[in-house]
Amino acid sequence: MQQNEIDAVVIGAGFSGLYQVYRLREAGFTVQGLESAPDVGGTWYWNCYPGARVDSPSMVYQYWFSDELLSEWDWSERYSPQPELLRYFEHVADRFDLRRCFRFNTGVEAARWDADARRWRVVTDQGDSISARYLICCSGILSAPQVPPFEGHESFTGRIVHTARWPREGMDLAGKRVGVVGTGATGIQVIQTIADQVEKLVVFQRTPPFPVAMKNPSYTDADREAWRARFPEVREHLNHTFSGFEWDALYEPGEWQELSADQRRDAMESLWADGSLRFWVGACEEVLNDEAVNAEFAEFVRAKIRARIDDPELAERLLPRGLFGIARVPLENGYYDAFNRDNVELVDVRETPIERFSADGLVVNGREFPLDVVVLATGFDAGTGALTRMDIRGRDGVSLAEYWHRDLRSTMGLQVHGFPNMFTVSGPLAPASALCNASTCLQQQVDWVRDCLVALRSKGHSVIEPSAEKEEEWVNYHDELVATTLFTRNNSWYTGANIEGKPRRFLSFPGGVDVYWQLCEDLRLNGYPGFDIC
Ligand code: NAP
Repeated sequence: MQQNEIDAVVIGAGFSGLYQVYRLREAGFTVQGLESAPDVGGTWYWNCYPGARVDSPSMVYQYWFSDELLSEWDWSERYSPQPELLRYFEHVADRFDLRRCFRFNTGVEAARWDADARRWRVVTDQGDSISARYLICCSGILSAPQVPPFEGHESFTGRIVHTARWPREGMDLAGKRVGVVGTGATGIQVIQTIADQVEKLVVFQRTPPFPVAMKNPSYTDADREAWRARFPEVREHLNHTFSGFEWDALYEPGEWQELSADQRRDAMESLWADGSLRFWVGACEEVLNDEAVNAEFAEFVRAKIRARIDDPELAERLLPRGLFGIARVPLENGYYDAFNRDNVELVDVRETPIERFSADGLVVNGREFPLDVVVLATGFDAGTGALTRMDIRGRDGVSLAEYWHRDLRSTMGLQVHGFPNMFTVSGPLAPASALCNASTCLQQQVDWVRDCLVALRSKGHSVIEPSAEKEEEWVNYHDELVATTLFTRNNSWYTGANIEGKPRRFLSFPGGVDVYWQLCEDLRLNGYPGFDIC
């Protein structure tokens, strides 16, 4: 089907894609949304594994654009489970009539910039060819699953499932022997949820995680009303914090070191008692840039873990080593209790990696672990994977996948030099990639894109692209900031280290949501300096 004169194609019907379509349509643009899933929800559509839930409080992990929506939607608990989140996105899609703007079960195979027409030609896996002025990628940070290439998987007689492709109809694990590979945020949620359902659970751990114990109270009507009274203030405040949550660091730079050891201990206890990511990004910036301060936090967490495990030898094997919080900090809610159960076994695969699948299970160090189901909680090609898995070609046919294979570059995580009129909501080198409450950053970027398109239209322009100098300036600024932090020692998806051959660069802008917001505002108010517009 050929469809011309569309203003924008929006890829993805998750948090940002739904909102982008809503904002552009409201501003009078013609929009076609494309979504490979059968329905809305993005991350919360795909990640329907047991125990999936968000690690941002529901009251800040939501849309702010509609007072009616804020007043009518009731969150049931502090950290919403996946089914409730999915219901929310379905409700938003219905409430604002967004589904009619999307084609579902329709993935983007390729997109080419046509310099003569000044348009993108987008080709889908359903044979559609769409011509659009703007290509807006809302394809997600953590949406391209990473499956390790274990040999012998075709001979395994049991079932292998990646958590991000969990069967929609669910899977009955009762009485089964289940192996879980991976102990990141996802593995933690699966393990703590299924441990008491399965006959045997074998956890294959390469790197022990550094989680904070979650507190997840149910919300009463009174809680919800108290939150609603605060919504106007919270909505205004979120973009003026370091991490996009409703709170900011408790201590200004330098203050932490002035506290006595007892005061620091009390402060950590009280942050810990919050049961949230506040322990990680809500204390002081030194946690992320001063090795001595970081070591205090790391040791505090290790002591909390030790106290949870009955067997001291097992506790040592579960203890995370090294720096705290330089990889994404997960929340746990029963994870360590699972390891006190007789039916749960921990297998270290750092020194002796998983060798292969056998017909009956997984083999490590010559020992076979018989399994009925192998759960791969092995993560994602984060930040870039969803984009590079499409064949996107910009000016002069340059491939985005090849460009980023050489070096991971972007201008403020919003646009890439050489790819005119392409926008990357939650793209690399912006806070939205990893270091913030995603919903804050995504909405800020979506609004920025909408404002940019409105500004172009009002001046009779139709093309915008960051100059090579502007991109260089941003990448250098980003790298300089990263160099002042402990993130330089990161070895996870935060730097692309989990994907073989991926160029290393810290994925997320580390300067803070507030700083980033101001820089985006400056661009908008000053007519996008450093961007070529015509
Ligand atoms: P992840 O953090 O990348 O963890 C992947 C896990 O798989 C790691 O433990 C990794 O070990 C392991 N692994 C990968 N390949 C392996 C192999 N060949 N052999 C053995 N182990 C292997 O992925 P994730 O847990 O899916 O989480 C990704 C991100 O999604 C999180 O950081 C978070 O931002 C988000 N998330 C959020 C929530 C929430 O909101 N509550 C829930 C889930 C996920 P190594 O560490 O040694 O590489």
